[in-house]
Amino acid sequence: MSSSSQQPTVVRVRGSCHCGAVRFEADADLTSGGFRCNCSACMKFGSFITAVGASSFTLLSGDDVLGTYQFGSRSIERRFCKSCSVLCFSKITAPDGEQVGINLNTLDDVELKDLPVVYFDGRHDDFTPRSEPAPVRRQGEPPTAGAAS
Ligand SMILES: [Zn+2]
Repeated sequence: MSSSSQQPTVVRVRGSCHCGAVRFEADADLTSGGFRCNCSACMKFGSFITAVGASSFTLLSGDDVLGTYQFGSRSIERRFCKSCSVLCFSKITAPDGEQVGINLNTLDDVELKDLPVVYFDGRHDDFTPRSEPAPVRRQGEPPTAGAAS
């Protein structure tokens, strides 16, 4: 290892919705920051996400007020507070196990400006990490295309 700053650093983070009904904690490596995606849902939600293994995530309260939003392949359960509407996390069923995508915007006392950002072109099913936002529409693409993700 050439630099200690490159070591993964897992920390316990806490998050909550706006009204406070939903609270959770997770063990997450925030040194790698989070991702933003241009898919139709992430754009609307303003998502800023990091994924952790399901065993690293604990819902502390709010199971009774959490709604679920799914669309497309239905492989992602987006969980939001039915009281204040905040999207808190998503359950992601992947081939290598269940993950939880935490909405970093809901973490308490975390400086988001300090977190690196990776961008995905989810609108075109391209999850190659990018340093800048991918276009919502590629050149020549009609406005209604690419809402699959
Ligand atoms: Zn709430």
